Amino acid sequence: MKAYQLVGQGRPEVVDLPIPEPGPGQVRLRIAGAGLCHSDLVLVHADPPFFPLPKILGHEATGWIDKLGADVTELTLGDAYGVYFTWGCGHCLPCAHGEENVCYDATTTPGFGTGLDGGMTEYVIIDDPRHLVPLGNLDPIAAAPLMCAGITTYGAIRQALPLLIPGSSAVVIGVGGLGHLAIQILKALSPTRIIAVDAHADKLAHALQLGADHAVQAGPGAAAEVRALTAGRGANLVLDLVGADATMAFSQGALAQRGQIKLIGVAGGTLPVRYFEMPRESSIGVTYAGTIPDLHEVVRLAEVGLVTPEVTHIGFDQLDETFALLDTGKLRGRAVLVPTL
Ligand SMILES: [Zn+2]
Ligand SMILES: [Zn+2]
Repeated sequence: MKAYQLVGQGRPEVVDLPIPEPGPGQVRLRIAGAGLCHSDLVLVHADPPFFPLPKILGHEATGWIDKLGADVTELTLGDAYGVYFTWGCGHCLPCAHGEENVCYDATTTPGFGTGLDGGMTEYVIIDDPRHLVPLGNLDPIAAAPLMCAGITTYGAIRQALPLLIPGSSAVVIGVGGLGHLAIQILKALSPTRIIAVDAHADKLAHALQLGADHAVQAGPGAAAEVRALTAGRGANLVLDLVGADATMAFSQGALAQRGQIKLIGVAGGTLPVRYFEMPRESSIGVTYAGTIPDLHEVVRLAEVGLVTPEVTHIGFDQLDETFALLDTGKLRGRAVLVPTL
């Protein structure tokens, strides 16, 4: 089978590998689609690498049940599922709650496509049926972005819902793979006023098409513009889907009293936090993917048509060039590897 494997630091390659066999309790999935995520670029270029190599990339994948390991009886061959990628130990208290993204053993339990072989291939082994979420009537290829971009934005917004009352405002920084879903999820779950911020004019136009109420050009005047749009109060929620020095400084400048910054983007920026420079009773928090219930919920939200990922299908031979385009911030929606192309 073909696979996009990280063979060394900075060196992803299309390789040929044997089709893996599921062991007891495991499931083999035939991949429908695997999304390209900005954090894949971070994994590719990490020096030293985050995990032992080689590994197949791709933590955002969907597919069809292809083969069942011994003792697996609850799944039906051919049914479509998405993969929950932050695999925990399955036994600790957070895991018992389905919060495997914050498993107590998270540093020693590598995730799907983030330490273990991932979905940019034709067949993958899933360690346990609890890491599969049924896709119902969704197109499995179009559903792939829900597995990282969807769960990550849904999880952050779900935690912040008590802030998003009528009259509130939420800022989305970065209208790419995550941002285009964040706007739709905010619109589906709350009456909040949605303000999209991006450096690219076409992304701002896209945000307005998706239902954002305002689009603000990123830059030195952006925080003042958000204040002007919110009667001087600032935003109750800021989703920083970039995480660079500039976006973090903007987040602080655009934040309301009691507001929350959710730092989601992995660009590696920093923000000095000083008492009188943060709005009163405001907070900043880091999120990581979401819980298994979050994934079920965002998939159901898509199934009823309230969230629709915009996807571009690509083949193995387009992976390098598409990752390069993703790195420029100009890719619209999400690119999804379709192994049969
Ligand atoms: Zn991701
Ligand atoms: Zn655990």
